[in-house]
Amino acid sequence: MSPRSVLVLGYGMAAARFAEQVRRSDPDGELVRLTVLGAEDRPAYNRVLLSPVLAGSVRAEHLALHRDSWHHRRGIAVRTGCAAVRIDRAARIVECADGSSHHYDELVLATGARPWLPPVDGLREEDGALTEGVRCLRTLADTEYIVDRSRGGGPIAVLGGGVLGIEAARALALRGNPVTVVHPAGHPMQRQLDPEAGRVLGRVLSRLGVEVRLEARARRYLPGDGLKLDDGTLVPAELLVLAAGTRPRTELAQQSGITVDSGILVDDLLRTNDPRVHAIGDCARHPGAVPGLVQPAYEQADALAATLTGNPAPYRGTSAPTRLKADGIELTAFGDSLAGTDDPAAEVCAFSDPAGGRYAKLVVREDRVHGAILLGFPDAAATLAQCHHRGVPVPEDRLPLLFGRALPGSAGTTAGPADLPGGSVVCQCNSVTKSALVKAFTAGARGTRGLAEATRASTGCGGCLGAVGGIARWLAESEGEETTDELAS
Ligand SMILES: Cc1cc2nc3c(=O)[nH]c(=O)nc-3n(C[C@H](O)[C@H](O)[C@H](O)COP(=O)(O)OP(=O)(O)OC[C@H]3O[C@@H](n4cnc5c(N)ncnc54)[C@H](O)[C@@H]3O)c2cc1C
Repeated sequence: MSPRSVLVLGYGMAAARFAEQVRRSDPDGELVRLTVLGAEDRPAYNRVLLSPVLAGSVRAEHLALHRDSWHHRRGIAVRTGCAAVRIDRAARIVECADGSSHHYDELVLATGARPWLPPVDGLREEDGALTEGVRCLRTLADTEYIVDRSRGGGPIAVLGGGVLGIEAARALALRGNPVTVVHPAGHPMQRQLDPEAGRVLGRVLSRLGVEVRLEARARRYLPGDGLKLDDGTLVPAELLVLAAGTRPRTELAQQSGITVDSGILVDDLLRTNDPRVHAIGDCARHPGAVPGLVQPAYEQADALAATLTGNPAPYRGTSAPTRLKADGIELTAFGDSLAGTDDPAAEVCAFSDPAGGRYAKLVVREDRVHGAILLGFPDAAATLAQCHHRGVPVPEDRLPLLFGRALPGSAGTTAGPADLPGGSVVCQCNSVTKSALVKAFTAGARGTRGLAEATRASTGCGGCLGAVGGIARWLAESEGEETTDELAS
């Protein structure tokens, strides 16, 4: 039987993972002939780590998900700088902007999301391009532009105080720029944080040199001057970074008659209404996944790769924590984090220390952790995330748990890597345990990068970079080896 042609549109994080998994199941290409078309002019990279690149804590060259020769060695045809413009489902052909066309037996849409531009005057030139000095943060090219423009140390406005806006603002403040976040809601990160947590976060940000203007609506960008708000005030800005949310890229699907709602609708086998067309990652909408996070994108990629190589693996959904990647701010929120004391079915324990920049909230239902917000409590964040993930009953005395005392057998502990049980999941995005890291080290992997290449740990949201680095150092020290961490610059 000749291999089926699988064509992937998009070469971002979901597509890269999908291609890897297909070749893990089908190393010699006997089942699947794989072609990947990516609109960006470079191979897939870890988009999640753009915020640390903006902050200067991770180098751009360390973002690549694959080495240059990767696809050649695996018999995968990859074309970068190649944007698909039309899908002909009847003929099973995709046409691209460069005039090429590609046949498929199975089509995988992995086109991601694009930044949403709020209705503010002055963001675009007449030809539709963004005004000079205005930029979204979605690609490596965007990041390079923003870094370049921030070099003069001038004031910067960030439009949007969600996760991405706060990460960008903190990163730019670290570069020495005065930064103002303009946010329409009453507190930052309102999708993940309750008002008190948002208030504490606002104080922390202000101490770190980021001003947050709340309930503020931008009306017009005046190049070189700044951002004019509805109340008539001007936020001085030589550069405006747009972080007002994203929208899934669905137009190709929509034009070809694929069902689209707030994303491309898929079932548990990641199929659209056309059984030969699938969607994964930020462009897809599955009822069990929170959009815009890498962990569901990876889990969808894994499930679809298994299905298309002959082992149907239903995808049921993903519950992924949100971790802020901002220097000096340890913030994790997950699950039912917005539940209030007015919810009779929820038990809510909360502690607020605005002066200390700390806030902890635990939501328990039926003796299980259902959600949490941890600002300034990294040990508790790790412990509670493990409890949530494993669904274990929590002790009657909730307080020590809230402040980070580990449960027996959990990952969150103030003790070092030596005390961590082997089965503890260190990297949630890739389900990598401590034992898997130890095994990779024994097989020769060294440093954060080596362990990442061998196991994929830390190549998702990057939230476990520190933990993986700690384990790499601990393993090296226990062997009397010298340690360097080559991932950070
Ligand atoms: C700065 C930043 C920080 C983030 N931080 C986190 C985080 O901490 N945790 C987390 O979970 N998530 C985070 N995310 C989100 C995460 O990056 C995405 O969820 C993830 O990249 C989704 O992968 P994807 O492959 O679906 O989309 P993408 O990685 O966006 O890839 C889609 C690719 O498809 C290409 N494409 C689009 N249309 C076409 C076409 N017609 N033809 C060919 N190619 C096309 C695009 O150019 C792009 O390269 C962050 C995102 C950004 C921008």
